[in-house]
Amino acid sequence: MNDLEIARQAQLRPITEIAKEAGIPVEYLKPYGNSIAKVSHKFYDVLKERPNGKLILVTAITPTSAGEGKTTTSIGLAMALNRIGKKTFVTLREPSLGPVMGIKGGAAGGGYAQVLPMEEINLHFTGDIHAVTTAHNLLSASIDAHIKFGNNLDIDSTQIFWPRAMDMNDRALRSIVVGLGGRSNGFPREDGFIITAASEVMAVLCLAKDISDLKERLGNIVLGLNKHGDFVRVRDLGVHGAMAAVLKDAIDPNLVQTIEGTPAFVHGGPFANIAHGTNSIIATKMALKLSDFVVTEAGFGADLGGEKFLDFVSPVGEFEPAVVVIVASIRALKLNGGADKKSLGSEDIAALKKGFENLKVHYENMRKYGVPVVVAINIFPDDTSGEKKLLGELCKENNIPYETSTVWKNGGKGGVALAERVVELSNTSNQFKPLISLDAPIEEKLKIITKEIYRAGSYTLEPKARKMLKVLKKQGFGDYPVIVAKTQYSISDDAKKLGAPSGYNFQIRDLTLSAGAGFVVAVSGDIMLMPGLPGNSNAQKIDIDENGEITGLF
Ligand code: ADP
Ligand code: MG
Repeated sequence: MNDLEIARQAQLRPITEIAKEAGIPVEYLKPYGNSIAKVSHKFYDVLKERPNGKLILVTAITPTSAGEGKTTTSIGLAMALNRIGKKTFVTLREPSLGPVMGIKGGAAGGGYAQVLPMEEINLHFTGDIHAVTTAHNLLSASIDAHIKFGNNLDIDSTQIFWPRAMDMNDRALRSIVVGLGGRSNGFPREDGFIITAASEVMAVLCLAKDISDLKERLGNIVLGLNKHGDFVRVRDLGVHGAMAAVLKDAIDPNLVQTIEGTPAFVHGGPFANIAHGTNSIIATKMALKLSDFVVTEAGFGADLGGEKFLDFVSPVGEFEPAVVVIVASIRALKLNGGADKKSLGSEDIAALKKGFENLKVHYENMRKYGVPVVVAINIFPDDTSGEKKLLGELCKENNIPYETSTVWKNGGKGGVALAERVVELSNTSNQFKPLISLDAPIEEKLKIITKEIYRAGSYTLEPKARKMLKVLKKQGFGDYPVIVAKTQYSISDDAKKLGAPSGYNFQIRDLTLSAGAGFVVAVSGDIMLMPGLPGNSNAQKIDIDENGEITGLF
């Protein structure tokens, strides 16, 4: 059975029941039909004084097109924890329509580890992403209107950092000229679109504590430079209030359920390169007050989403992760070890051995934060017994705690061993400490992260980045938090360096400021902020019949 068929067979329980069991009173619930509800973010005020449950961070080895299964494992682990008697929530990001229609597909898990209703979650859901798109474009439109009607702020039209946004993969919109057609249409200038997941508004929404914080952060966004080279902020334009108003419902977490009735918040969806890559802080904070365990997923590999969660999201959200789970699949390890994508179905001991080096680096990296770490081996149908045995042996030889997980095939019961191990580790000593202190100078932060996480021998700032560092220092951002945008396909800055590269020079091309989100992005190489559709897309397979039944989503 495919994901959609499995999803359709599941017995969905009314969301009001799931909410009641989770301890969410009906007056804080805003149902969207029978199976989805928003939970007012104000509910957190009621919960504030309660103790927190334990937070489990799910991250992974370097991703490959074979898929390692972070979302699937997160959902399966949460269901398994419930099975062994631990009250558990899973918190995830909302799928973007770009990948749903492109190659990757949805992001609601897979097999018998899914969040439901998968069609709604993967399509428009509660409209949060569209609200982010609208808030983003409200600012874009306001900038052009401001310049057309006198430009009191003296905005330099060649130094506008704020593009337009849309939730679709559309490469034709990456670089465009806007304002053509004469005086009444404004003035022509170069512009471009990014996908909504890459919008700073998305990052802001996911970091905001409440409406006031949301508004404050939106006001802080630097949209460009004026003709004297100084920052122009959204506050100067005065549209942050309207942007926050557009987001008034989007700020409330979306409650859904797993295939086994585990409560799940699916809320917000920032990229893990240009942004921090995890669901909203509000959703995770609320879930921690409502359960013994919260399982949350960070995007891409442990070098991106994992690092950002531990160094940035945790201090901002005041999280103390109890256990880190690194998801690995034999297929993805083989690809990391240089195997050919077309022959992943057949046994390849040599590639697995080589690819294991990648897992080892991520394990060592995560251990540097003082939190217990366990590897979850996500078993795929093609994995051979020889490969499974070897991977177990390699983990043992290297003293890496691991458990196999078959949640994709068996649901929660396929994750019980992993759940038990997670509980056990969550009771061992935990000295969580970020590797990078939030207020160290930018150069110092880059030195630590490139050395300790990316395993580079050195790093260099290209001229553009050096110039921007000067501007940042002058404007008072010299010690600002840093997140790195780099390829997700390698631990290094070069997508072609598979496995465990080390000792190379890490190049930083540019620094950009996300003053609303509260970080500087150190950009390495070309980061794709607007993907494109392939020649053969999922969109050509997705269909709907006269009864409204959808096919082709996964
Ligand atoms: P990630 O969150 O790491 O991107 P997902 O959990 O979304 O990965 O999984 C990617 C794809 O791989 C999904 O289509 C999912 O159904 C599939 N998948 C995950 N685990 C397995 C497995 N053990 N066997 C077969 N397919 C799997
Ligand atoms: Mg995922």
